[in-house]
Amino acid sequence: QQKGLAEKVIAITGASSGIGEATARFLATKGSKVVLGARRIENLKTIAEEIQSAGGDVCFTSLDVTKKEQLEKFIQFAQAQFGRVDVLVSNAGLMPLSLLEQLKVEEWERMIDVNLKGVLYGIAAALPVFKAQNSGHFINITSIADRWVGPTSTIYSATKHAVRVVSEGLRQEMGNTIRVTIIAPGATESELPNTISDSEMKKTVIEQFRIDLIPAEAIARAIAYAVEQPADVDVNEIVVRPTAQK
Ligand code: NDP
Repeated sequence: QQKGLAEKVIAITGASSGIGEATARFLATKGSKVVLGARRIENLKTIAEEIQSAGGDVCFTSLDVTKKEQLEKFIQFAQAQFGRVDVLVSNAGLMPLSLLEQLKVEEWERMIDVNLKGVLYGIAAALPVFKAQNSGHFINITSIADRWVGPTSTIYSATKHAVRVVSEGLRQEMGNTIRVTIIAPGATESELPNTISDSEMKKTVIEQFRIDLIPAEAIARAIAYAVEQPADVDVNEIVVRPTAQK
């Protein structure tokens, strides 16, 4: 039977900065056991040490979500450390905005690999475990771009639209015992603008973001809300924008 937040085992991809990091820190203060994955292992080590010295239950491992086997290992690692996995937060993502006509094809591929295929590999890795446990919760971090497209965001929006669609299909198929939630953040403090390779574009985005940013913990609180509901309540989606964002 699923519990509130305390004792729940929550695996988070992309936990080395921004929303993933804030989610790990916040959930750990609520008594969840958090499992951190990302490529920057030094960041994870520091975050895990800080969570631990504050009395939290945490472990971490290196994870590249573009590799299917690494997601399988990530889920196995969580099981080995804490005996089960209650929630997978698929949060790893990047946003190298550009105009289509700039033909940054490698960046398109990278977004598809991390933002979309990374989520699919997470589903493939965790679903058998959730089915065996007869409970589990997928939380997929999309974006307000999961229902919107504008200049420079075409491929980013496409990946986030796709994750929204996949999440809804998964929910319909698995609804009885497995919960599926999408969290769609607006402009949030993180390192995300660093993934934009076009320096002019990056400046524009940072300028825009400067007015509007909300702390990453605002998204962590939305995730916590979805997780702490009773097992028969599935929060399907939460959109969180800065009040001032259009
Ligand atoms: P950050 O850049 O701070 O965090 C992104 C995280 O993704 C990092 O921990 C990074 O870790 C991880 N990551 C990137 N590539 C990989 C990979 N191949 N394998 C594993 N981890 C990877 O940005 P945010 O916190 O903002 O981003 C988190 C999510 O939130 C993303 O999905 C983003 O699209 C979404 N989002 C963010 C918004 C914002 O305004 N900040 C708005 C809407 C959505 P590492 O480099 O160590 O691997």
